[in-house]
Amino acid sequence: MDTVSLTGKELAAALNADTKQRAAAHAESGAAPRVALIVANDDPASAWYVNSLRKAAERLGIACDTVDLGADASAETIRAELAARSADPATDGIMLQTPLPAGITLEEVSSAIAAPKDVDGVSPLSLGLLASGLEGFVAATSESVVELLKHHQVPLAGKHVAVVGRSNIVGKPLAQLLLAENATVTVCHSKTTDLPAVTSAADIVVAAAGRIGLVTGKHIREGAVVVDVGTNEAADGSIVGDVDAESVRGKAAALTPVPGGIGPVTTALLMRHVVVAAEHARR
Ligand code: NAD
Repeated sequence: MDTVSLTGKELAAALNADTKQRAAAHAESGAAPRVALIVANDDPASAWYVNSLRKAAERLGIACDTVDLGADASAETIRAELAARSADPATDGIMLQTPLPAGITLEEVSSAIAAPKDVDGVSPLSLGLLASGLEGFVAATSESVVELLKHHQVPLAGKHVAVVGRSNIVGKPLAQLLLAENATVTVCHSKTTDLPAVTSAADIVVAAAGRIGLVTGKHIREGAVVVDVGTNEAADGSIVGDVDAESVRGKAAALTPVPGGIGPVTTALLMRHVVVAAEHARR
């Protein structure tokens, strides 16, 4: 079987074209939309990601402030910055970067982000709104999985989707979004016994575990659609996913590439959320 590559570049380009236009219109009638990237780590992967977000914002006409609180920032300092930005009328969107300093969980600080500015949907309130089927910002990575599948006309209603990973920023919100699309969802995690048995029963497998090569040909059934959310640094410094593409190719009907699949759509959706937040704030 030929495995189709479900690239994210076209969808990201279409989203970005619209975002750029809306950001320009917003700037014309006042100030450019503005996002604050809050960093409290000295992690090279996070620094690389922050830099790529800054560049994306710049290209789209979105103002971007990076606030580096240092890798030893306390939970109080982080919460105070998030609260200050939430109260600042000039800031439209807030993104808190991970990892956080040792001992601080995302859950304990993210509640300080006001929901209308929580453009990556990480706060307990945003997650609760999603779980309740109410309007709010959705974690961009999870949203990009659904949007990329829709873009490539992969049906979701009635399909069995196995999500590998149950984090609050990817796996859990994705399960909620898929339920809203009427999929039947199984969420797998590190304590799942016999992962291949579970995933090979699914029509669609989403790998979001952060483990290089976790999903192989033996984890999927013939004709399955495979989405690779993993963004892992390989020993040679390259970015690789959670799927062993070589063993899946030829058996899967379709596979998202890494890089060039979920990544560019996630960034495009984050920037879109900033513009939406700015538009809502001005209403
Ligand atoms: P996380 O470490 O918070 O969560 C990993 C999840 O995977 C956990 O729920 C864990 O139970 C599960 N898991 C780990 N090992 C497993 C195993 N052997 N079998 C089954 N389940 C297992 O990670 P995260 O923040 O959710 O990120 C997951 C991946 O997605 C990472 O590679 C991350 O870099 C990537 N990511 C990509 C984007 C993007 O835009 N492309 C955005 C965010 C995260």
